[in-house]
Amino acid sequence: MSEERKARLAESLAAVEARIDRACAAVGRAREEVRLLAVTKTFPAEDAALLTDLGLTDLAENRDQEAGAKAAEVARLRPDARVRWHMVGRLQRNKARSVAEWADEIQSVDSLRLAEALAKATVNRERPIDVLLQVSLDDDPGRGGCPVSELDALAERVARAGGLRLRGVMAVAPLGADPAPAFERLAGAAGALRKQHPGATEISAGMSGDLEVAITHGSTCVRVGTALLGGRGLASP
Ligand SMILES: *Cc1c(COP(=O)(O)O)cnc(C)c1O
Repeated sequence: MSEERKARLAESLAAVEARIDRACAAVGRAREEVRLLAVTKTFPAEDAALLTDLGLTDLAENRDQEAGAKAAEVARLRPDARVRWHMVGRLQRNKARSVAEWADEIQSVDSLRLAEALAKATVNRERPIDVLLQVSLDDDPGRGGCPVSELDALAERVARAGGLRLRGVMAVAPLGADPAPAFERLAGAAGALRKQHPGATEISAGMSGDLEVAITHGSTCVRVGTALLGGRGLASP
């Protein structure tokens, strides 16, 4: 029942909004400084459409194939909703062209080779794609992210691409560790980047479990899946 589902989503959205409000208030930040992205991965287009009915139009996905189909379906279900789609997952170079067809913002750019492929895929765009550089906070290459020491070169490459607009950094907290020092490190990297690239003001950090800590450490964008939509089950990413 879509009315029941909508009521459930409205409830969880209110709870997440209350958490964001409290976290902002606790450190004297304005609520408008923090974007809320709904991570709709593994959930159907109908859920994404209901979120737009509730006023949440910043949606995020982590797989190109699923996202492309879902974005098209949401556009069909809600032709008037002004959805902004965000890519937050690992991205292979051969998907650069495809992701450029549906994403308004790519938060997971973490290598020169990927930046190069995206630059090529977006040369003829009218509106550039917003780009965040994904930073590795645990120096584990398996989990994605650019090492802090290689961030400058990556930023330069993105900044030179006419079809890309460098907007800041993104990170996922290390697994099973206190997120606070990691988010502090991210804030430091973001500050250094901003000195070279004044337009790179975004810090995308914080998910269902750690959004308060991230907001305390300067996050301007929290990416929330589970706390809005429910659990994804064991088999899903
Ligand atoms: C899935 C995902 C999220 C959302 O995680 P939750 O814990 O469900 O809120 C945030 N960021 C990225 C990169 C993700 O892949």
